[in-house]
Amino acid sequence: MSAAPVNLLEFDLDGLAAFCERLGEKRFRATQLFRWIHQRGASDFSQMSDLAKSLRGKLEGAAQVTALPVITQNISQDGTVKWLFDVGAGDAVEAVFIPEDDRGTLCISSQAGCAVGCRFCSTGHQGFSRNLTTGEILAQLWFAEHFLRKHLGVSERVISNVVMMGMGEPLQNYSALVPALRVMLDDHGYGMSRRRVTVSTSGVVPMMDRLGQDCPVALAVSLHAPNDALRDKLVPLNRKYPLAELMEACQRYLAHAPRDFITFEYCMLDGVNDQPEHARELIALIERYRTDGVWCKLNLIPFNPFPASGLKRSPAPQVSAFAKLLLDAGLVTTVRKTRGDDIDAACGQLAGDVKDRTRVTQRIALQRQVPLQVIAAPPGGD
Ligand code: SF4
Repeated sequence: MSAAPVNLLEFDLDGLAAFCERLGEKRFRATQLFRWIHQRGASDFSQMSDLAKSLRGKLEGAAQVTALPVITQNISQDGTVKWLFDVGAGDAVEAVFIPEDDRGTLCISSQAGCAVGCRFCSTGHQGFSRNLTTGEILAQLWFAEHFLRKHLGVSERVISNVVMMGMGEPLQNYSALVPALRVMLDDHGYGMSRRRVTVSTSGVVPMMDRLGQDCPVALAVSLHAPNDALRDKLVPLNRKYPLAELMEACQRYLAHAPRDFITFEYCMLDGVNDQPEHARELIALIERYRTDGVWCKLNLIPFNPFPASGLKRSPAPQVSAFAKLLLDAGLVTTVRKTRGDDIDAACGQLAGDVKDRTRVTQRIALQRQVPLQVIAAPPGGD
């Protein structure tokens, strides 16, 4: 029985070179192939005109470039695009593209579900199914980039930034994450600067240290509370890695990226973590770990309520008052704009529709019974 074809989206450039070597091919052939796949969105080896015919022949049957099936695609009036991808066995993950004047940001998922179980997060309420593979993480970027180029009728890059803030805790899927990050940074891949690729973590301290050494991209930390008692309730991982350990890990991380800063994410929950005393405690916490100059930024996120959470969004004046206290204390603070509200793509609504896995299964089954044209054909090359 012949082996199943290998999905070439699973490889960073070193991995692809090793694969090509097993086929008796030199590294520069792997580089050519890598560029065809990631820079030009090609999936059909016969299109790869500058690859030796003999290599194309070897790839046929042994390898393929496999996209994730698209279950739904929604385009908001503000240009935000949300995709729901089928990752099999009734699981689905989401990716969201957010266009702005000076950048195009893609938010992607690292796991189907999440084991951390943050109280304010609809993915956390859904539970954990499985880690995505490197290829499944990259397939979201590969598809979105090449779909958007076609959709917008442009040949240059559309996605300038990637944030690992979709479903899942990326640092609990470390071995699949790092090769995917390397492809994003690789000049032969997506060529992004490491400051334009952000990993968001709820605070998996040992893996923050490893990421700092292996691939020090921008880091966002889901803080959400200024003390351990409250953070234990909102982000259960805090019981394992409490605030003091987390803040020290942030400082160590910056030692690998000294001109960078950590972004602290803070989801504003009415009456829970949004009072003036919380702001003052937050300022004191951050001051305690300040070294030189600006070492962090705060991003206040309006909560997107969902019924099972039992939580409410902080009123806008409360968010403004909280932000003012932080700003007056000299902390760089922003309030996240909500985007794509009309398609449920705002932060925290990611996967909001898939928290009930039965519904996903039904939706996928329905899609298969009634093949509503592929909403967006895989890029398939230029
Ligand atoms: S906020 Fe992030 S880490 Fe927490 S449950 Fe949601 S996906 Fe997991």
